[in-house]
Amino acid sequence: REQTDAGVKRSRDSWFGRIRNLFASRELDDTVWDEIEEILISADVGVDTTMAVLDELRAEVRSGSVADGEGAFSRLKELMAVELSASDDPDAWLDDDSVASPYVILVCGVNGVGKTTSIAKLAHHFTGAGKKVVLGAADTFRAAAEEQLEILGERVGVDVISHQHGADPGAVAYDAWQAARARGADILIVDTAGRLHTRQNLMDELRKVRRVINGLDEAAPHQVLLTLDATTGHNGLTQAQAFTEAVGCTGIFLAKMDGTARGGIVLSIRRALGVPILFIGTGERLDDIAPFDSGEFVDALLA
Ligand code: GDP
Repeated sequence: REQTDAGVKRSRDSWFGRIRNLFASRELDDTVWDEIEEILISADVGVDTTMAVLDELRAEVRSGSVADGEGAFSRLKELMAVELSASDDPDAWLDDDSVASPYVILVCGVNGVGKTTSIAKLAHHFTGAGKKVVLGAADTFRAAAEEQLEILGERVGVDVISHQHGADPGAVAYDAWQAARARGADILIVDTAGRLHTRQNLMDELRKVRRVINGLDEAAPHQVLLTLDATTGHNGLTQAQAFTEAVGCTGIFLAKMDGTARGGIVLSIRRALGVPILFIGTGERLDDIAPFDSGEFVDALLA
């Protein structure tokens, strides 16, 4: 799996490459630690995560369990990977063949972050793995959201269930689930509204869609993915917190990773939201998607 996209390469060159040199070339004194701290924070790793990781690393160096710069560098990678690790591997989501109902992925996120594109990428990803996918167009609020999803569905080659514009999103979710089940789909991916000017209504609507799905299958939705835009950095994290709390998100789809030179943002997001990053979007094409692998990501970042 290829995760070394442009964003990772650029952040490696501009920020993280310096860390390897610092560890390799100098005695680990206070000025080196300060420099490393500054680099991590500049790369958007976030103050809390930076402090937690460096405090642990410094303690290990002091106690002698980490012997030298080289050891400290590989330990830093391990600690960062642990920060990012997820107990849930998307590639194993559908291993359980006993599931008779579709595996339901509810996707939410604010308009413009890349939600619709990410849904199409997910459909493409799972279709490529031999799964039958159905999409539910439950964003009935934004103008032409249904049409956008239908066009993408056609490109990917999956059915899209939609109602009239302005219809009840819960009713769309209901019909989409029934259709997915009747057609023997493995996965149902449900799009939801992302308008922000009426946040309370939006959260209520998302909770209702969730309830409808849960009423059809008490194990569903199996995943609630929040789509975030990696290029907005720390902006939007407060808003994202509101989403994760209101709708009970299980993971993040981090879109537009190719557009940022600050790959460290994934560590900030992980800590701020308390849910794992499960997929990254690395471009505008359908196959610009990668299941997130924390070890691989940190290795690419700190290569
Ligand atoms: P939505 O409003 O959240 O549904 O956003 P869209 O899916 O319509 O995407 C908004 C814009 O972001 C479009 O121009 C997409 O092509 C672009 N986009 C989405 N994901 C990515 C990505 O991973 N990388 C890049 N470079 N662009 C993306």
